[in-house]
Amino acid sequence: MSSDLVLVNGGRILDPTTGSWREEALVVRDGTIEALLGSADARPSPGTARVIDLTGLAVLPGLIDAHAHLIGQMEFAGLPAIDETAESELAAGEANALATVRAGFTTVRDVGTYRGLLDVELRRRIEAGDVTGPRMQCAGAMITRPGGGGEVTGEPGVAIPEELRRGVVRDADEMRRIVAWLVERGADVIKLIVTGAVLTRGTAVDDVELEAPLVLAAVETATGLGVFVAAHAHGARGIRVAAESGVRSVEHGSLIDDAGIDAMVANGTWLVADLYDGDWIDEVGRRDGWPAATLEKNAATTQAQRDGFGRALRAGVRMAYGTDSGVYPHGRNARQLAYLVRYGMTPIEAIRAATVDAAECLGWSERVGSLEVGRFADLVAVDGDPVVDVTALERPTVVIKGGLVVRDDRPG
Ligand SMILES: [Zn+2]
Repeated sequence: MSSDLVLVNGGRILDPTTGSWREEALVVRDGTIEALLGSADARPSPGTARVIDLTGLAVLPGLIDAHAHLIGQMEFAGLPAIDETAESELAAGEANALATVRAGFTTVRDVGTYRGLLDVELRRRIEAGDVTGPRMQCAGAMITRPGGGGEVTGEPGVAIPEELRRGVVRDADEMRRIVAWLVERGADVIKLIVTGAVLTRGTAVDDVELEAPLVLAAVETATGLGVFVAAHAHGARGIRVAAESGVRSVEHGSLIDDAGIDAMVANGTWLVADLYDGDWIDEVGRRDGWPAATLEKNAATTQAQRDGFGRALRAGVRMAYGTDSGVYPHGRNARQLAYLVRYGMTPIEAIRAATVDAAECLGWSERVGSLEVGRFADLVAVDGDPVVDVTALERPTVVIKGGLVVRDDRPG
């Protein structure tokens, strides 16, 4: 990382917590915000290596996607991985990482890959500067029961290579071992598949695939190692099992009932609801002739999830923005913001979910999610006012990560 002194000035900076705008300049050193200056004082000093002028743009903290999959073909539930190699999946992952950060998403929580630990390798390449991509939290694998929602299923008789089965657990002892194994190899979040999945063939969204003793074993081990647990759960009982076992977040939460909402409020569990995906799966699945059972599961969860999101929001469940990127094409991560608004949030609440609140969900409040001294200089700048029209964030003009420009669409 360079020790360049960078001055970012001219833009109106949004504080997502208060919803207010500030006219300030950011002094950036080593990729981190060193000082905030009133715009009148913001002149380059002799040591200033670069000045980035954002005059006329609305500047927000870099966005966070708390449910991304940069590696692997989620839309086909991992099946193509059988014929791929680690290098071919990584090459695709590098392109996905670039598309994601250029879309203004400078941080992702990557909640699992079918081929174990490729996310950790992708992050290593990004941190080494060989690949342009977002900051990543990595799950390393999806922890699932044999034949569960995190497995590659659907091709009977085809042997699944071991490296695609790193997260398969049978009992609580194995759960403890695998959680520790993943963290030792670089995972900094643990992903559990607590219920069946929409896209995984042969699994039912209502089935609880990991019961409370296994979820508790994962939470205890992960907590002891200083990492959080994210739990994929569609069905109402699975959501309750996850929340009552102390997971950090419930992913999807499609069929949540009042008891599940109560459990999430009582335990401070975050909800990460991918409200956009149902439309994408329906459109592409019908067009491309996906299995009828997949389309039925999608229909059964799409509107229910949106209604449940609204009820959970009104009940005070904490919300972090996560899109399940990889189900739809990478780089469209901001499209879901409008869905959050349509189903109950104000635009500033949706922005908060994707910045300061998502940072809290990840345990990264001191690093990302706001443009304050000590945070990374990660930002997205857009034309228009996203607090009025949140879709402005679908069209970023400038994206900066760690003080480096990764996108600038302005002429000249
Ligand atoms: Zn997912």
